Amino acid sequence: MSHSSWKNQIQKKWGPHQHCPVCGKAMAPERKFCSQNCRDSYLQKQKKQKKQSRYQIVFLVGMMVVMFVLMFVFM
Ligand SMILES: [Zn+2]
Repeated sequence: MSHSSWKNQIQKKWGPHQHCPVCGKAMAPERKFCSQNCRDSYLQKQKKQKKQSRYQIVFLVGMMVVMFVLMFVFM
C-alpha cells in the first residue's frame, strides 16, 4: 500500500514509543525516563511540589484559624 497516512508512516519509522516526561525525547515504551538525569530532575521536581503543597495546606489552615478567631472576636 502506497497510500498511508503520515501517522502510519511515523509509527512505522519510530515504532511504538513514548516521550520522556522531562525533556520530551522519544524513548522505548517500557522506560519511564530517557536518562538517569531526567529521572533525577523529575524526582527532584516532585519533591519540591510536595513540599509546596504542604505549605499551601498549612497556609490555608492558618487562614481558617485567623478567620475563625476574627469571627469570634467580632460577633
Ligand atoms: Zn528525558
